[in-house]
Amino acid sequence: MKIPDNLSPLLQQLLTEYQPLAREGKVASYIPALAQVDPDQAGVAFATLDGSVFKAGAAEQLFSLQSVSKIFGLVMAMNRLGDELWQRVNMEPSGQPFNSIVQLEWEHGIPRNPVINAGAILVADVLVSHYSASKTAFLTFLRSLCRCETIYADNKVYLSELEHGNRNAALAYLMKSFGNIESEVPQVLEHYFHQCATAINCEQLATSLLFLANRGVQPGSGIQVCSRRDAHRVNAILSTSGMYDQSGEFAFKVGLPAKSGVGGCIVAIVPQVGVIAAWSPPLNRFGNSVVAMQLISKLAEELGLSIF
Ligand code: GLU
Repeated sequence: MKIPDNLSPLLQQLLTEYQPLAREGKVASYIPALAQVDPDQAGVAFATLDGSVFKAGAAEQLFSLQSVSKIFGLVMAMNRLGDELWQRVNMEPSGQPFNSIVQLEWEHGIPRNPVINAGAILVADVLVSHYSASKTAFLTFLRSLCRCETIYADNKVYLSELEHGNRNAALAYLMKSFGNIESEVPQVLEHYFHQCATAINCEQLATSLLFLANRGVQPGSGIQVCSRRDAHRVNAILSTSGMYDQSGEFAFKVGLPAKSGVGGCIVAIVPQVGVIAAWSPPLNRFGNSVVAMQLISKLAEELGLSIF
């Protein structure tokens, strides 16, 4: 696949074309701190394995990482627990909203996959149980991947989610009742909300996930962040489950492993090439950013990026 030498003009053109679509979406409001975000901001960055970062719009504006944090937690838990993890969480698409509770009851407290809320809370339990300071360990991991020491968790978003996290608490207590959560639930939820509250920008996010486009190796440093097999597995899970209830459509139309978050960002892995991170807060009815979806779809089509 031949990527143009300078992608920034194309990114700018797509952003200008699709930004008006923001009007069709709604900013997430079930976490009150997220509802205060300016809906008209949008940015995109495309980091490539050779170290280039192309960007347009508000690519350096911080936003709330939210569900995209599930990728980093998952990689940490896979590194820590190995294949034992897959006895406690499955790897199937859920076909249910990201915070659904019914399936968890039927399936005896084993979450369908690690990128729906129940699965990510399970992963948070693994981290809390295996690190003496899991919140710091998470930030340290992310900082090393972004090569940015200033990445932090936004306390306002964290507290807002702690206060309004009843559904996530219900998921955690249900799993605990089935014996699938080891640590105390409040501690697990604190970790989960803290990682969701991470403030990051498109450039940092795209750079941080390059190892998933490069068989587990961080380009530049050569550090093996996770095994090649696990990088492939994370990408497989993102391809089937990363875009909430629109994962099938995203695979069909775009064809890239991707994860979205209710903060309005979508990150897409382009194996052997790089990582795209796009952000615009208003969401469609599935919880995916309207503008980021369109922008990544068109970019993938123009450049022929589908892995299928
Ligand atoms: N912290 C959010 C929640 O648990 C994450 C949801 C998301 O981005 O999908 O509800």
